[in-house]
Amino acid sequence: MDMLLDRFLRYVRVETTAVDETEAYPSSPGQLELGKILVKELLALGLKDAKQNKHGIVLATIPGNVKTAPTIAWLAHMDTSPEASGKNVKPVVHKNYDGKDIVLPGDKSKVIRVAETEGLKQLKGKTIITSDGTTLLGADDKAGVAVIVTAAADLMANPKIPRGPIRVVFTCDEEVGRGTAKIDLKEVNASVAYTLDGGSAGALENETFSADLATVTITGVNIHPGLATGKMVNSIRLAGQFLSRMPWHRLAPETTSGRQPFLHPYVLEGGVAQSKIKILLRSFVTKDLAKQAKILQGIAATIEAEHPKAKVEIDVKTQYRNMAEYLVKEPRAVKLATEAIKKIGVKPIFETIRGGTDGSRLSEMGLPTPNLFCGMHNFHSPLEYACLEEMELSVRTLIELAQLWAKEKQRAA
Ligand SMILES: [Zn+2]
Repeated sequence: MDMLLDRFLRYVRVETTAVDETEAYPSSPGQLELGKILVKELLALGLKDAKQNKHGIVLATIPGNVKTAPTIAWLAHMDTSPEASGKNVKPVVHKNYDGKDIVLPGDKSKVIRVAETEGLKQLKGKTIITSDGTTLLGADDKAGVAVIVTAAADLMANPKIPRGPIRVVFTCDEEVGRGTAKIDLKEVNASVAYTLDGGSAGALENETFSADLATVTITGVNIHPGLATGKMVNSIRLAGQFLSRMPWHRLAPETTSGRQPFLHPYVLEGGVAQSKIKILLRSFVTKDLAKQAKILQGIAATIEAEHPKAKVEIDVKTQYRNMAEYLVKEPRAVKLATEAIKKIGVKPIFETIRGGTDGSRLSEMGLPTPNLFCGMHNFHSPLEYACLEEMELSVRTLIELAQLWAKEKQRAA
């Protein structure tokens, strides 16, 4: 556990904040720096092929000792969220946590409150790690990175534990939606994968939204307002009408939860002549996305009918798909993860994500990839924290998972 904590504390000190507004890959130099540190460590552990590829992605193999076993992969992302600073992270270790509110020492206005934080009270007596309140901690996803390196170290130190080959993959720029942009599945070369990018002990995420993006372009007629009588068609007003006709008491993120779908306008821009609205379409049932698009087309048709000189066009693009639809093709991915969690004495908690993960995209690309817990909480906020014992359980889950997969055979192609 000391090694796990030591690794985690070292990784969070490297600034790897992802940057949205850049073409560079990875988007920040710190990700390359952390990647170099990780390659060195993996080589020292005996993962002889450890390397950083030309995109900065780290790849390595824990050699297998069971010839018939399929190759699995463990993934975590090295970048952290741009929603809070990741510079000069000063991790604070709260040993034997007293179960009370945690006041962060660098900014006393930042308090992790028991009343507002589900599950925190239950961690009484455990080791909690936070930032000092002035930055992110970066447990998302350095807890995942530390867990994977520690599991690799354990397997290398215990060569008798049966396992097939295990690919270790550390990716870049997950937090700005480019986590899989440079991933080559041939290079990963595994038949199933797990992202270590989840929360509380036992959490297993095997379902995400299916997602499309609709862009509504409203074209009006612009003319000097002094000459506008009977001629002007103001696209801004039509955009307002469009939005007011969208369902809000249902089918909106602010009025729904759980497995309910939604439509979410999140960008509005324009002038008199033309306005654009960007709308997220989200449902756990992929075919329902078409129904959502129909709602938008219906609104567009009524507005065009009422304003014959206006044009309302809707363009729908695919974003990602519910990973559950792809995981059914390799049912062992979730089944064995569930068994591994049970084996360490933890109750599996199946979670659906009202969003996407790298795993949704990877599953769609052909690599079934559910997401596993690694002990991070309150991510994307300076109130982020990690629980060392949960990270340890995550390591043990991976060791069990390696052994369960060692008993399996390669799926016929
Ligand atoms: Zn993450």
